[in-house]
Amino acid sequence: MDKAPAARDRGQAPRIVALRRLGEEELAALNEVGQVDYFEDLNEGNREAFEAAMASAHGLIGGKLELDEAMLERSPNLEVVSTISVGYDQLPLEAMNRRGILLCNTPDVLTETTADTAFALIMATQRRLVELSCMVREGRWTSHVGPDQFGHDVHGKALGIVGAGRIGAAIARRGALGFGMSVLYTARAPKPELEQHLGAEHCSLDELLARADIVCLAVPYSDDTHHLIDADALARMKPSAALINIARGKVVDETALIEALEQGTIRAAGLDVFTREPLDADSPLARMDNVVVLPHIGSATHETRAAMARRAVDNLIGALVGEGPVNAVNKASWRAGRAS
Ligand code: NAP
Repeated sequence: MDKAPAARDRGQAPRIVALRRLGEEELAALNEVGQVDYFEDLNEGNREAFEAAMASAHGLIGGKLELDEAMLERSPNLEVVSTISVGYDQLPLEAMNRRGILLCNTPDVLTETTADTAFALIMATQRRLVELSCMVREGRWTSHVGPDQFGHDVHGKALGIVGAGRIGAAIARRGALGFGMSVLYTARAPKPELEQHLGAEHCSLDELLARADIVCLAVPYSDDTHHLIDADALARMKPSAALINIARGKVVDETALIEALEQGTIRAAGLDVFTREPLDADSPLARMDNVVVLPHIGSATHETRAAMARRAVDNLIGALVGEGPVNAVNKASWRAGRAS
């Protein structure tokens, strides 16, 4: 049986480990409530110090957190983990539940920015923006463009949203209200508000793949969504269709995707996320004209990253010394753990 964190005397200032990219204001807020060990990044030179800090930490906050069960074992006092992201597929949630450790994330504040990124990929893949911009930059624009350089419309097309949650709905709004697109969507439960306001249509994944001109992935990564888009799914898509992935790389079988793009099973892809990140420079995805690749920048604007960091700090402080976090993934487990 995993041990819940030892009860902390509520008068005792919590020890906090902060990892990766907090601003001065956020660090000052943390320092006001606890004793903070800040690691701007992790490397061979400071890993030992990080592990020593984790051995007595009550709270962990940061982006791209690396935390496995062995690390939890070596962090017996850990009460709260506050990730600067909405996704938490890289964190051992079940083990955290067993130990009564609270996991907080940062939904909402990144929704619109990530939907903007999805739409940038939609525009870029449909209109071949990166490929044609390279043509200009490399001095290959030597005569008027013709059908070989033409793209495909965005307005009026069928947009298929796989995972119509917060971000999926924001992408759907852009498509329906801004570009007059018809919207198809999948989710575990129907979304009457999307149907009412956007005329969106709930359908099965197979139907969405067969009908959409642009398939946009916005599901969380889990055992259920691992390789949701595999060779079979790609074969169901229209040969003229584009696949956009702002979810997580492993939602797509990347080998099958490369094959589908090479063989013309689908026309194009716009990808912000990959099976392994950073993407290997030798990956065919990095070289194909019909693929737009981004370095996982879904939420990466100054405004949104600052809002995410602020929200993560509020979550941690709320959980460690306040009235509770703004956003928590497993609040029930946390309460149960602390009460036992
Ligand atoms: P969300 O509000 O929880 O939405 C997730 C949607 O996926 C919901 O509609 C949910 O259905 C659906 N879903 C969940 N599991 C499913 C399954 N097994 N099969 C089919 N549909 C399923 O999450 P969000 O805030 O929109 O974020 C979505 C994901 O985007 C995050 O988990 C993260 O991985 C990714 N993301 C990426 C970036 C980036 O930088 N590229 C930035 C932010 C987020 P129900 O609504 O019916 O439950």
